[in-house]
Amino acid sequence: SGKQVKLHFIDLDGFKAVNDAWGHAVGDALIVAVAHRLRDALPNDAFAARLGGDEFAVVTVDEPDAELVPSFGGRLQDALASLFEIDGRSIEIGCSIGVAVSEHGVVQTSELMRRADIALYRAKDLGRGITIDFDDSFDVDALQQAELENELRATLLTGGISVMFQPLIDARSGAVTGVEALARWRKEDGVAIPPDIFIPLAERAGMIDLLGMQVLRTSLNAAAAWPSLSLGVNISPLQLKNPRFVEQVEEATKAADFDPRRLIVEVTESVLISNPEQARRAIDGLKKIGVKVALDDFGSGYASIGSLRRFGFDRMKVDRSLVAALEVDQNAGAVLQATVALANALQIPVTAEGIETERQATVVRLSGCDELQGYLFSRPVSADEVTALYCGAE
Ligand code: C2E
Ligand code: CA
Ligand code: CA
Repeated sequence: SGKQVKLHFIDLDGFKAVNDAWGHAVGDALIVAVAHRLRDALPNDAFAARLGGDEFAVVTVDEPDAELVPSFGGRLQDALASLFEIDGRSIEIGCSIGVAVSEHGVVQTSELMRRADIALYRAKDLGRGITIDFDDSFDVDALQQAELENELRATLLTGGISVMFQPLIDARSGAVTGVEALARWRKEDGVAIPPDIFIPLAERAGMIDLLGMQVLRTSLNAAAAWPSLSLGVNISPLQLKNPRFVEQVEEATKAADFDPRRLIVEVTESVLISNPEQARRAIDGLKKIGVKVALDDFGSGYASIGSLRRFGFDRMKVDRSLVAALEVDQNAGAVLQATVALANALQIPVTAEGIETERQATVVRLSGCDELQGYLFSRPVSADEVTALYCGAE
């Protein structure tokens, strides 16, 4: 008909939590209630469907010159914004929406769905609860991502990820007592890609197990020559999902002839929230073989006091943002102090990271941190530098 077709993909935010908390019967009732609200919010000639799970789609058809008609994203979001009352429970739920347009109806169905899907993915990525319209630039981004992914895969096959080590300082003596291993990737064209980019990429592409084990093996081999230092290695939450993870860590320490008691695995609190059972099993397993476990980026998220106790962490690392805030925020010192006091009350020693100034070092020392890390002491350095600077005598 030459008309303008708009496809909205709608994905509920927080639906899984509802299912987990109250069971599938409540989840089902919620889906039905959502469907009613969507239908009520739409004009008569719109078409709505449930795609499966907590995903819906809405198609609207407008006159060809209907540029001016805004997409229904905002209206749909408003429709779901007020509380749902189900079996006497008040449930709050939101949604993310991806929109794709076929002007004059020329875009093929499958292509339109692909675009709406990519837009929805964006909406979720940007923090949920929003509507995103597909834009051609998304495809360019996706292509670059795919290329980067291929390059990373090739790099992993040749063991091309290297590791730098950042010294950890004893707060009292000022001596270097350990190092944290940090993954580095320099592409063949010489461009360095930061871990904040390639770690999430490896996670999305199913390569994190491989990457994580390579970093671990490389670090263990290097640190085997530093008997006086502890070794911290970052582990992605996804690695803990691998049922063989603990076994693989044990094999790696044996292969490198590395005392597992010198190894500290650093995990972030997202693990504890998304899948506490798995985290529990993996953490218990690691502790059983003598490996210590540290909670990384503490204070940046939502770990509860309860979970801190339950998981039996050997150490906490307060998030860099808490230390950085000391320079700008009046309350930051009190927040930092309270955070460290909480950990200390649970008898968990605390590392402060991201220390760049003497003043920050003084404040975190006074707050009760027993270990310090940051550019003030040293940037991450190569294995050779660690040997030369801190292990020369051995
Ligand atoms: P992280 O575990 O919090 O590591 C500390 C980060 O802070 C490192 O960034 C380090 O270079 C940086 N840093 C240290 N001191 C300072 C300072 O004084 N000031 C500032 N501004 N930054 C400082 P990097 O190496 O870019 O790593 C970023 C993140 O990537 C790490 O955060 C970690 O979450 C992740 N990562 C790095 N290597 C690995 C790895 O092998 N596996 C996994 N799963 N994640 C890794
Ligand atoms: Ca870390
Ligand atoms: Ca950290």
